[in-house]
Amino acid sequence: MKKILVVGGAGYIGSHMVKMLLQKQHHVVILDDLSSGHRDAVLGGDFILGSLADTALLNGLFAEHHFDGVMHFASFIQVGESMLNPGSYYRNNVTNTLNLLETMVNHKVLTFLFSSTAAIFGEPLYTPINEIHPKNPINPYGRSKLMVEEILADFDRAYGLKSICLRYFNAAGADAEGQLGERHDPETHLIPLVLQAAAGMRPYITVFGQDYDTPDGTCIRDYIHVEDLCQAHLLAIEKLWDGAPRGVYNLGNGEGFSVREVIDAAREVTGREIPVQYGARREGDPARLVADSGLARIQLGWQSKYPEIEKIIEHAWRWILHGSKHDS
Ligand code: UDP
Repeated sequence: MKKILVVGGAGYIGSHMVKMLLQKQHHVVILDDLSSGHRDAVLGGDFILGSLADTALLNGLFAEHHFDGVMHFASFIQVGESMLNPGSYYRNNVTNTLNLLETMVNHKVLTFLFSSTAAIFGEPLYTPINEIHPKNPINPYGRSKLMVEEILADFDRAYGLKSICLRYFNAAGADAEGQLGERHDPETHLIPLVLQAAAGMRPYITVFGQDYDTPDGTCIRDYIHVEDLCQAHLLAIEKLWDGAPRGVYNLGNGEGFSVREVIDAAREVTGREIPVQYGARREGDPARLVADSGLARIQLGWQSKYPEIEKIIEHAWRWILHGSKHDS
């Protein structure tokens, strides 16, 4: 049993991670400011309400507990918002992460997992995208994540902080047992929006652009089940505990689905009508983002349990129908 700090453990991916760590009998401490997370999504562990901006709180936390590792999920994630308000993205995603890393180093906690993103690559030069693909993020969100990846390389060299960055492609789906799911407010992600339209919670789904250079003209993405992402974190932190060096891994299923294919699959899974409107392209959307996750498979022994888009949608649908009616 290890003691793990999960920052952002009340959010979408963090809450699934907390559940998985508890199932593995780890001692979990959750730090979350509930700016976008939900207290009732934290199914166990010791919850602390607070922000990474609060260095005194961080110091106290690390003085009180000896953590065997830290997982960091507490980032702002909306590309569009990052273009309008880059300052808050750099402050939250970079400065606050730096607070966390410096506190870790001061307290000699040197095992760190970082939620990175496919957005660090920018417009792909080739697909599937492997780890060595050039990194040219095209928005402050992607840049803020890349900055942290670079900080982590420096912190390894200077302080021996060992980290693994997991670059998520399109996180989707929900807890297979139906206890947790995606509760962003506002929701901007395709699968929950499509399912909300299927459930009648929205009048239609708007498809952003149908003139991309793809077979059906809509954007192609690589959707990965949230539990598969969490499984990769578990393998990654175990690897670091076993003495592995710093690493970066791209995480996806290696198969792309277009927006239209996702909507068709959702019609199939739900048996519902899904009204569609066609709108303009959304700024900053590359036509195709598909991961090459070969390295994670080889080095971490990772394998996705739910690679099928139908399964991902089925779990998300169950959450929309039965789980997501919380008021906080
Ligand atoms: N998308 C869409 N309509 C929506 C939301 C998303 O057509 O209401 C498209 C979006 O342009 C992208 C894909 O769905 O091609 C996935 O978008 P999402 O925001 O879920 O994830 P992202 O790829 O931006 O991380």
